[in-house]
Amino acid sequence: MLARSTVDSLRFAYAGESIAGEVPLAKLGRLVDSLTSAEGKVRFSLQGGMDSGRPVLRLQVDAAVMLRCQYCLDPYRHELRIERVLPLARNEAELARWERDDPLLDALLVDPSLDVLALVEDEILLSLPVVPRHLEGDCGSAGA
Ligand SMILES: [Zn+2]
Repeated sequence: MLARSTVDSLRFAYAGESIAGEVPLAKLGRLVDSLTSAEGKVRFSLQGGMDSGRPVLRLQVDAAVMLRCQYCLDPYRHELRIERVLPLARNEAELARWERDDPLLDALLVDPSLDVLALVEDEILLSLPVVPRHLEGDCGSAGA
């Protein structure tokens, strides 16, 4: 488990710090609401650094979660592998300017007590398919 669950995101980036850990899915309540099972765990790592002159957090998340196929309604296993580079904006104005320059940019506001597990959970929720379903042809073949 994690020694601490919050970090000062800007200091973390400038210092090039890193943390890694595992968390049971059952601890991520908002995520579990979208799953058919709370069994399993999430592995993640967070590393601070610089990218294009901006402080960034590099987040990596690995997990396997159970979703319900919206075609056949059977649960199925969905493998997640998330890798994100999240630039840290110092204020709302900077964030707005970056997002105007690059609408696809995934930036965060600096946070002296960033909740790492909430960030991991947010990124997993964003990565889940809008309509979960088996790969084509796999419906009904999952078994137990
Ligand atoms: Zn299916």
